[in-house]
Amino acid sequence: MKGANRLDFELRLVANMQWAMRDLPQRHISRTFGRIFVPVDGDGPEVVERLARVCGIVSLSLARRAPLDIEAILAVSLDLARENIRPGETFKVETRRANKKFPLTSPEVSRLGGAHILGHMPEVTVDVQQPQRTVHIEIRDQEAYIYVDSVSGPGGLPVGSSGRGLLLLSGGIDSPVAGYLAMRRGVRVTALHFHSFPFTSERSREKVVDLCRRLSLYGGPVSLYVAYFTEIQKAVRQNCPEELYVTIMRRMMFRLAEHWARETGCLAVFTGENLGQVASQTMESIAVIGEVCRLPILRPLIGMDKADIIAWARRIGTYEISIRPYEDCCTLFVPRHPATKPKLAKVVESEASLDIQALLAESMARTEVVRVGGDEDTGREDTGASPLYKATWTEQENREDQGDSGLDRPGPRVLE
Ligand code: ATP
Ligand code: MG
Repeated sequence: MKGANRLDFELRLVANMQWAMRDLPQRHISRTFGRIFVPVDGDGPEVVERLARVCGIVSLSLARRAPLDIEAILAVSLDLARENIRPGETFKVETRRANKKFPLTSPEVSRLGGAHILGHMPEVTVDVQQPQRTVHIEIRDQEAYIYVDSVSGPGGLPVGSSGRGLLLLSGGIDSPVAGYLAMRRGVRVTALHFHSFPFTSERSREKVVDLCRRLSLYGGPVSLYVAYFTEIQKAVRQNCPEELYVTIMRRMMFRLAEHWARETGCLAVFTGENLGQVASQTMESIAVIGEVCRLPILRPLIGMDKADIIAWARRIGTYEISIRPYEDCCTLFVPRHPATKPKLAKVVESEASLDIQALLAESMARTEVVRVGGDEDTGREDTGASPLYKATWTEQENREDQGDSGLDRPGPRVLE
């Protein structure tokens, strides 16, 4: 992927970095091979905190500049050592010389730097094997950059470099983590949430908006589609055998997911499913449910343990939002004995009692779009435009983003 695409990746990363700093003072970001330079002016810690979340960034270093002169480089190194290395700590100096014209070699610069710091700071010691702190000196064409230690970024790919995906986002712990992992592989996420007002409250919807806002910190705004699911749930409950509620309800979800994915230029559907966690996540259920959707269904959490997922949720800051107590539509009408091994023929037969087309059409017409994390984000429902208009807009934006996928965009697929 790297060679020819490198420039695209870097430009996209820079755009995402600019987005993450959009409310801070304007600054010019520059690139040289493998490095991106962001000038800071007293706001370094704030900038580092923002950028440490941007997918595609491996590490960040708050550096100070020095002219290409060994005396100046040593002086800045000492200043930084004094500010950062505490008494009793061990350190080493590591030099990278991208500028081969500089008269000293990397080991020579490191040796001089170490000696200079030791000469002025008797309270620290050198350990070249396992130092607690590392003073980095990077000698480039125009100047040198000096920093102590680095902060890790998320790594992965810049959001947008892998195209767009539709995330089925519940208010639970799992699906936001799945969304984050998709973003970290470069996927720009459009979220779809099924809402069963008034069975599920306004608060459960706010929770999902908050989750999207949190996800947007990792690489850009997230469009949230809030799909009306009330009539579907009622119809399934009234007409279908109890043990198949969940199976049939989830098939309805995936039919709508396919529709909205195609509508918004998404190439795949992402879920927070995890094998064996609940009745609908057995191999048999996954197969029967996924059968209605012709787009790839990707499940980044499929093999994880719940404890790993929770650790991720805490790390990315979605856990505290997810554990707010509001009902999710999936926890409504949960049958006492849901089928763990549903049979497709039986499911299809049970669905015959539903007017699937009409139910899907009604949900589509009543679906709302919230653009979360954008400049115009108010956290409230977007009433400025009809859902249809917004959907078209998103699709257009996406075409510009990555070129048309070439997949056809038929209406929702319904089981004949
Ligand atoms: P989560 O913690 O993400 O809610 P879960 O373990 O509770 O997952 P389920 O409730 O069976 O499992 O849901 C499985 C997946 O289906 C979720 O991870 C999510 O991707 C999708 N999903 C469930 N409910 C909704 C909903 N109301 N809106 C959108 N997607 C949903
Ligand atoms: Mg759930």
